[in-house]
Amino acid sequence: MNIVCIGAGYVGLVSGTCLAELGHNVTCVDNDEEKIKLLNSGQVPFFEPGLSDLITKNQQSGSLKFASSLSDIIKNADIVFICVGTPPRENGQADLGFVFQVAEDIGKILDKHIVVVTKSTVPVGTNQKIKKIIKKNYQGNFDVASCPEFLREGSAINDFMNPDRIVIGTEAAGAKRLLLQLYEKIDCPKVLCNLETAEMIKYAANAFLATKISFINEIANVCENVGADVEQVAEGMGLDKRIGKAFLRAGIGYGGSCFPKDVRALHHIAGQNGYPFQLLRAVIEVNNQQRWLFYKKIKEALGCLENKTIAVWGLSFKPDTDDVRESISIDLIEKLVEDGAIVKAYDPQAMKNTQKIFGDKIQYCFSAEYAIENADCLLIVTEWDEFMNFDFSAVFKMKQKIILDGRNLFRKEELAIKGFKYIAIG
Ligand code: NAD
Repeated sequence: MNIVCIGAGYVGLVSGTCLAELGHNVTCVDNDEEKIKLLNSGQVPFFEPGLSDLITKNQQSGSLKFASSLSDIIKNADIVFICVGTPPRENGQADLGFVFQVAEDIGKILDKHIVVVTKSTVPVGTNQKIKKIIKKNYQGNFDVASCPEFLREGSAINDFMNPDRIVIGTEAAGAKRLLLQLYEKIDCPKVLCNLETAEMIKYAANAFLATKISFINEIANVCENVGADVEQVAEGMGLDKRIGKAFLRAGIGYGGSCFPKDVRALHHIAGQNGYPFQLLRAVIEVNNQQRWLFYKKIKEALGCLENKTIAVWGLSFKPDTDDVRESISIDLIEKLVEDGAIVKAYDPQAMKNTQKIFGDKIQYCFSAEYAIENADCLLIVTEWDEFMNFDFSAVFKMKQKIILDGRNLFRKEELAIKGFKYIAIG
């Protein structure tokens, strides 16, 4: 099939590349010309394990192409995926400016039947609006469908190729058939539903996962007050099949470009439609508070932070990505700098993106080891494997052997033997 993915970001580029790998002819279109130039020169604009090789392979075979303009490409397309960003507004509402712009662009250049599929995460009712916008500019036949994307940065290719389910929301029988055919090589349950249900599934899934995180974080906070161990509590809970282990890791909360924005957006959608979603309000508040409870621990451990040297391990919002959007690390560093601390930061992939935010306000270290040299304490903010496998017995050069671990990577006793004061969550 001939596929166009509009928006060559994390979702569009990964989806487009994987669809090419599945045997389709794909063109990824992005209005960021620099990004397209980079892709055409064989470079990938962000880090995602395995993506670079898969792009090269499919580019070389001719099944994956890149372009900065839709106009000629759409003429041969069977399916057009909308994969542009839906960033949050100040009030939590999703900003649909990019999505509607794309719908208008499609309507203006359409001259034959295609299926327009939204992969971007959009509030309930958006696909009906997309339909209207296209119709305003094109009076011929076309179909609209909603296939929200569930891939996670860091494991995006595997998530796309081996998903737990594919959601296909559309009322059009032809579009349903075409999308089932598109995904026929992917063996997983296919949830067939209407547009509104598909849109809601995505928000409900992310909001539920965020709820699990905030729940275990609150349990962790109670554990600290009653002498229980949250790691063991989570293990004991997670073994119950009705609960499951996933997303029961206590820590300093969720970040990234999806959970914070999607939870706020669902809370906003509910409110706009006359239902105050109280549980989600608490999920958001708990998540916002969790990082500052951690910050309080840093202050309790070090006293005044002015001129204290603080090593920060982990800048990306999660491991295996260079994405620092809504990364908790960024908030913590901002506050540390404000409080006069000297920050030595290290991340295996996200240094460049962090440098764009902090410039010369902090020090960028070439290794985890170098970051902790002469530090008064170490903050572990992202759970990269590299940190989990770090050999602490060889650490001699810290000013104070204090570790504050926001991701519970170690056991207190193990580090105490090596002379560290280890403070974690719960
Ligand atoms: P992104 O910011 O990485 O990429 C969006 C791309 O769209 C950018 O490259 C931008 O230049 C391009 N773009 C914007 N307007 C355009 C236009 N008019 N024409 C062509 N290109 C245009 O965003 P993302 O992280 O890939 O997320 C995209 C959507 O998918 C969002 O709604 C997000 O919530 C959702 N989503 C993201 C993830 C994730 O892990 N990042 C997972 C599932 C769903």
